[in-house]
Amino acid sequence: MTSTSPNPSAGTPSADTGPEASGAPEPVRRSDAEWRERLSPEEYSVLRLGGTERPYTGEYTDEKTVGVYSCRACGTELFRSETKFDSHCGWPSFYAPLAEDRVRYISDRSLGMVRTEVRCAACDGHLGHVFEGEGYGTPTDQRYCINSVSLRLQPERS
Ligand SMILES: [Zn+2]
Repeated sequence: MTSTSPNPSAGTPSADTGPEASGAPEPVRRSDAEWRERLSPEEYSVLRLGGTERPYTGEYTDEKTVGVYSCRACGTELFRSETKFDSHCGWPSFYAPLAEDRVRYISDRSLGMVRTEVRCAACDGHLGHVFEGEGYGTPTDQRYCINSVSLRLQPERS
């Protein structure tokens, strides 16, 4: 019997110790002018103004690469590719955040409906909305419908 342990990181210098997968992120506060400077106009309109990118236009809608999705505004790790699923709704969809303390929830009554907005817990950037009970057959029966422009994929190193 051969035990195959997938550990490709052997030999990699550990100069970059990323954030741990647990623990609440440090709050990130910047002025509106700083956000405008750091973010592209599209990123700014979604992350800071709560906008929504057009469906099927985001770069991560059908992304399958294994890795971690971080907040594009502040870098906090928010979602893992393992929880991404094909919802065919036009936006990247996850059934759970990387950890519950990475996101915060706000009741959103705009557009004549009651939805739950999802924001980055660290910088309060708008990510998207979470829906549940839609019958996608995922472990949580939730769909975190997230704008690609709010995320940045960090592919797993191999
Ligand atoms: Zn953030």
